[in-house]
Amino acid sequence: MATILTHGVVAASLGKALFPERMPARFWVLAVLCAVLPDLDVIGFRLGVRYADLFGHRGFSHALLFALIAAVLVTVAAFRDERVFSRRWWGLVLFFLAAGASHGVLDAMTNGGYGVAFFAPFDRTRYFFPWQPLQVAPIGVQGMFSRWGWNVITSELLWIWLPLAVLLALSIRIRRRASQRPPLVR
Ligand SMILES: [Zn+2]
Repeated sequence: MATILTHGVVAASLGKALFPERMPARFWVLAVLCAVLPDLDVIGFRLGVRYADLFGHRGFSHALLFALIAAVLVTVAAFRDERVFSRRWWGLVLFFLAAGASHGVLDAMTNGGYGVAFFAPFDRTRYFFPWQPLQVAPIGVQGMFSRWGWNVITSELLWIWLPLAVLLALSIRIRRRASQRPPLVR
């Protein structure tokens, strides 16, 4: 995994970029939840589930289907005033899907552990991207207070936080420019 904090930050940044209007607190909480939820699968280690199993770490909970199911449930449960299948409803579902899927994408860019079962349960192959700049995070908090933990933090700052900050700043600037442009009337 990448660190929980980075998974959450990616989802929140995605939310800010796609929904620039003021969104309710539950929108942000659920976006972060969708992005960190997959790593609850580490509980499986204690229950004797093996890493490579369907429900092992980076297995089904990291699959696109899991992200889609979570996205639909979250939208239906927390945004009841949105008409089902309306444009806005689909927008929310796709956003929460992207927030959840971003987790596997980040994990597939790490340099350790097993790959991500993006297409489980149909295909249990574990995938990594060819480009893996992220130092894999240790499981558990203690490992973070070590040289390994430090390498994790610096690699995530460089490859995730910094590009995100630049992209967000750019999107805010572009939006501001667009809103300042005079209306097209003769
Ligand atoms: Zn993960």
